[in-house]
Amino acid sequence: MIPYADLKPQHDALREELRQAIDQVLDSRQFILGKFVSEFENGFVSYSGARHAIAVNSGTSALHLALLAAGVEPGDEVITVPFTFAATVAAVHYCSATPVLVDINPRTFSLDVAQFEAAITPRTKAVMPVHLYGQIADGMEEICAIAKRHGIAVIEDAAQAHGAEFQGRRAGAIGDLGCFSFYPTKNMGACGEGGLVTTNDDALAERVRLLRDWGQDRKYHHAVRGFNYRMEGIQGAVLSVKLKYVEQWTEARRALAARYDALLDGVPGVTRPAVLPDSRHVYHTYTVRVAERDRVQQELTAAGIGTAIHYPIPLHLQPAYADPRWPQGSLPQSEAAANQVLSLPIYAEMDPANVEVVSRALADSVREFADRP
Ligand SMILES: *Cc1c(COP(=O)(O)O)cnc(C)c1O
Repeated sequence: MIPYADLKPQHDALREELRQAIDQVLDSRQFILGKFVSEFENGFVSYSGARHAIAVNSGTSALHLALLAAGVEPGDEVITVPFTFAATVAAVHYCSATPVLVDINPRTFSLDVAQFEAAITPRTKAVMPVHLYGQIADGMEEICAIAKRHGIAVIEDAAQAHGAEFQGRRAGAIGDLGCFSFYPTKNMGACGEGGLVTTNDDALAERVRLLRDWGQDRKYHHAVRGFNYRMEGIQGAVLSVKLKYVEQWTEARRALAARYDALLDGVPGVTRPAVLPDSRHVYHTYTVRVAERDRVQQELTAAGIGTAIHYPIPLHLQPAYADPRWPQGSLPQSEAAANQVLSLPIYAEMDPANVEVVSRALADSVREFADRP
């Protein structure tokens, strides 16, 4: 059996360190925000290169607060993609704003820059490129330049992109605001829920800080209508431990991806992940494209190989997010990708020998189909 991912080896290896960190929280009883969360925020400032890091209770909360801090109000428009996890679009609805969906670039699965520019209206307040699979969205420079010209905020959905870089700048330090998730299966995961907002702007940081803690500028004085989106002390302490290892884990993921790349190079019918120049891909997923994806996935499952699909249904075709402006067929690249993407096993502690087993099984499955009359 080769699992798609496995959280056990990481937590076994860190068991003692995590226990000590959690014990410190128990001793201090700083359960909500407090010094362990502040320490983690400081660590994430160094890690991301952004001026500010504000820890919250999930990646979804991070997106919601980033949109509010950017001034998104009911009726405003926010441009993003349907080929992402539901949270990206849900956060726009949380603001009673309107998501405006544009298609993806089929090579990198990120926002199509020309379509983004064409979708801007006087009501557009923000654009949310998603650094899907662990690579900075294609064309971030142009996205930021276009947004600046139109006075639109750029909010990076960096939930899958801890430590990803473009031209030496890290995820979360490129746009106006960056949103991270520490959901346990992300490249850096809490022992529970967690998220964080980064920004280089002092005023935006202040607004996010206010909003995450009931809008209180001092105790029991509510300056704005805020939320209970505070990070827990235990998660802050756990994440400070994990922050020490994330680079090592990222390099392990990159080495596994390089092995997949070498083994799948030239295999007909398998499209490997495109890596952009000047980009550091952190391989939250190693996602290939194949025709007959469902059959290939079934065959790998039968061979004892776990895989995943990110994501099987684009958001404009989900019952909860359907909108008459985007019927079936209206966002064809997203729809095609949803039918063809397949994420192969990858996690820092994965045995590199298993990359060979998976690659061979994938090549066999795809070839078998191509050989059929
Ligand atoms: C995981 C994820 C989120 C949401 O993060 P949570 O911490 O689960 O709320 C948002 N966007 C993307 C792209 C994600 O992968």
